[in-house]
Formats: sequence, structure tokens, C-alpha cells
Amino acid sequence: MANHEEQFRKLVSHAKEYGFIFPSSEIYDGLAAVYDYAEYGSELKKNIRDYWWKSMVQMHENIVGIDSAIFMHPTIWKASGHVDAFNDPMIDNKDSKKRYRADVLVEDYCAKIEAKVEKEVEKAAKRFGEAFDREQFVTTNARVVEYNKKIAEVMHRMNHDLEVNDLSDLKRLIEELEIACPVSGTKNWTDIRQFNLMFSTKVGSVSEDASTIYLRPETAQGIFVNFLNVQKTGRMKIPFGIAQTGKAFRNEIVARQFIFRMREFEQMEMQFFCAPGTEKEWFEYWKQERMRWHLDLGLPAGNYRFHDHEKLAHYANAATDIEYNFLFGFKELEGIHSRTDYDLSRHQEFSGKKLQYFDTERNESYVPYVIETSIGLDRMCLAVLCHAYTEEKLEDGSERVVMRIPAKIAPYKVAVLPLVRKDGMPEKAREILKSLQPLFMCQYEEKDTIGRRYRRQDAIGTPFCITVDTETLSEETVTVRERDTMQQERIAVKDLVSYIARRIA
Ligand code: ATP
Repeated sequence: MANHEEQFRKLVSHAKEYGFIFPSSEIYDGLAAVYDYAEYGSELKKNIRDYWWKSMVQMHENIVGIDSAIFMHPTIWKASGHVDAFNDPMIDNKDSKKRYRADVLVEDYCAKIEAKVEKEVEKAAKRFGEAFDREQFVTTNARVVEYNKKIAEVMHRMNHDLEVNDLSDLKRLIEELEIACPVSGTKNWTDIRQFNLMFSTKVGSVSEDASTIYLRPETAQGIFVNFLNVQKTGRMKIPFGIAQTGKAFRNEIVARQFIFRMREFEQMEMQFFCAPGTEKEWFEYWKQERMRWHLDLGLPAGNYRFHDHEKLAHYANAATDIEYNFLFGFKELEGIHSRTDYDLSRHQEFSGKKLQYFDTERNESYVPYVIETSIGLDRMCLAVLCHAYTEEKLEDGSERVVMRIPAKIAPYKVAVLPLVRKDGMPEKAREILKSLQPLFMCQYEEKDTIGRRYRRQDAIGTPFCITVDTETLSEETVTVRERDTMQQERIAVKDLVSYIARRIA
């Protein structure tokens, strides 16, 4: 764990030093839980967004995209339940004056027990070697069974407390578990209070007329309220989906772990409208489909797992998270929810407008059921960065930091480097650069030794470096160095475009 913490600290400073992500308003000492994407980070983010959009919208004839406004009619947030119930339970430590989410304190407590389970499993795996059966071990080893029982009991009690809003029992639970404040080390807690996460502001210039509106805490509602418009203008037939990417805002109580939990972040959401009674089938379909999307990207399969919800929101009849093993453990990356007809029915009720679909096959009208897939774009960037950051010792004893970002989403695909700054090499290199620029994000660098320039491209994750040397001038060939293996190949200049396109695809 300590190793991972160290690795995470290094990743955060690498992200800043190499132009991926800066703290917001840094010259004014920053703004908590808000970040700016820099020259490489914004490319990475755009590439992930495009990759999502392409696979969700372009590759599905029954999914279309929209881009709805951040400001919406305030009644929307009444109807959706956010005004009354989009709360987190907060608790303060009286000595350190630090504020925490009560549920996160309990979850962290359970994560510590889970880490003990993992330790036991690792030890046993070493002892038994090839014959080790994890499933059998965790269901029979007395200590592990006891640990898992404890986790289940604690989580069950917390979920029940949250469901019935029994905040005093949740506080009792924290006291019984003897959870201490990580800063002061004391157990001197305030009572737990609910805290609404929506940011509000006023529209209208005259204060008497001004009404309170909210910055959207999720993009989904912009899809629901446009459901009928899109169904009609797009001539969509159920089942069909509406996708959207965009900013969302939440006044998170505790902002932690870099871009994992931000107050301003971006979501990529798709709401899939289906006939009542078919939602379980579609839920399964999207669960598998979304996992396939992640695995296609090329991050290790072992870093992902499903976490089915024990506690379901009152409107949901199935929900799962896709969790990713960030450098601080498995945490939610994407949610897949079967939301029944709750949202459309509520908007129908609050707006007084019918939000129904006439199904010609069934010959009836109904409010469609909805499966939602919702992923945080920033969390996806973080997953990629956590996976990519690698420190390597090379054969010659030197070291390098290489960002192993999957080539298809790497910020820059190619760097064109003249070996030396003379003999016509820069001119030739620029000619090659010009021919590649319309197709790929390219960099040109001629300063420093070639070794240093390779290191710099490794550090920003550029998959291919093209070096122009004397042979290029006489033979029309270049060397192409591959980032991960550092192997070099000689390629004809005329074949460069097809070579790079093939390797990136
Ligand atoms: P969490 O339990 O971590 O607060 P959530 O269950 O509230 O997340 P959802 O409302 O399901 O999250 O939002 C869908 C996705 O949006 C999440 O899976 C996550 O990737 C992303 N997301 C939610 N809140 C934040 C945030 N504060 N910063 C960055 N991404 C977020």
C-alpha cells in the first residue's frame, strides 16, 4: 500500500510537471477539488470522450447524441428528487475540525479489513503454489470468513441506516467501530447531518424577480426532459438510447484523491429506453457491453471488477458499478443502473406533459423503462494515468518514466525528430511533419540529444518517434521507435501514414 501511495504521489506531480493536469487557479494557491487539463491532459480527455462517443453513438444505429444546457428549469431537480434527497451524511471531528462523509469513514474501515483479507490470500497463494484455489480458501479459512462476515454486517447496518435516514444509529456505528479521525486521531465526533450537494445560483437581474437555479449535478436529466423531442425528431423506435457528455457539479464534502472526486467534473452518460418488462435483459446487456468497452481500450482485465449494489435507490430495480483498481484501491469508475420508469413518470407528473411512447408492435402506450450507463470522464482519465505511469530501469543502468497510454487515446501519436540540427535534416523532418499533421497529432523537436528527446516523448506517452537521419536524405527511409519496447524499425517515408494508422487502430 505504502508503495502505491508513493506511486500515486509521483503520478500527481508527473501530471503537473509534464502538462497533463494543473491545480485550478494555482497562482492564487488553488481551489480545492477543481483542476485544469493542460496541453497533454486535454488531448487525452478529448480522445477518451471521442472514443466513448464513437462506440456508443457512431457504432449504434439506435443511439443518438445531444448536448443539453447546464442550466435547467428548477422544477426538474424537484421532480428528479435531487432537491430533497441528493444529500451526503457529513460528520465533523471536534478536535481537528475536519469534515468527513460518514459513509466514507465506514467504507474506509471496511477497506482496511478487506486489505487484511487480501494479505491472507496472498500468503496462502504463496504457500499452496499452483494448487491454490482462491474461492475455496476465502469460504473456508476461519480468519478470512470472520473478516468477510464483519464487512457484510457493517455494510448492511450502514446501508439500512442510510435508507431509513437513521443518522444517530450511523453515528453509534462509527463509535462502536472506534473509528478515529485520521488527522487528530481522536473519536470526538459531532452528530451526523445531511448536506445537499447541489450548487445553486440566481437568474434574473432584479433581486426580487431572481429565482434560484442549480448547476446540474448530473447530465442525465437533460436527456429525460428531451426524451419525447428526440424520439419524434429522430424517429426513434424503442429500444433506443440518447447519449450526452458534459460538465456536472457537486459540492463534495471531502475532495480527495486528485481528479477522482472533483466539484466540477465531466460525465459521459447514455440513457437507454426500453419496453417495460425487458429492462432486466437490457441491464445485463449493457453491463457486459460496458465492460467490453473498457477491456477493448487495453487496460489490464484484472484491474476491473463489478460491484453489484446491495442497497438500491428506491426507483432502481438493479444497479452495479464497474470498479477500477486505482493506485488507492478498487473504486467506482462507472455506474450501470436500471432506473425503471421513475424519471420519466416524475417529469410527467411535475410538468403535466405526457412522456409516453406508442409501441406499434404491442399496440399500446407506455412510459418507457430506462437503463443508464454513467461514467466519469475524469475518473477514466485517472484510471488511464494510474495504469500508464511506469518507472523503468534500463539495461544500461539508466532510468526512464514512461506513460504507457494506449496508442489510440495517447495525446500525441507521433514525434518527428531530426537527428541533428544541420545537413538538411530539419527541413526534411518538417516536410514529413507536414504530411502527417492532417492525420495525427504530431510534435516536432530538434533541441537536445536524441536520447533526451526520446525520454521526453516517453514521459508524455507518445507511442512513436520518427527520426530523420542521413539515410533519410539518400534512401527516403526513417527509423520509427516504439515507446513501450524502445525497438526501432526502418520504414519507407511513403509508408509512414499506413504504418502509423495500422499500429494505432
Ligand atoms: P461516488 O459514490 O463516488 O460519489 P456516485 O455513485 O455518486 O459516485 P454517480 O452519481 O453514479 O456517482 O455518477 C456517475 C459517475 O460520475 C461515477 O461513476 C463517477 O465516475 C462520476 N462522478 C461522480 N461524482 C464525481 C466527482 N465528484 N468527481 C469526478 N467524477 C465523479
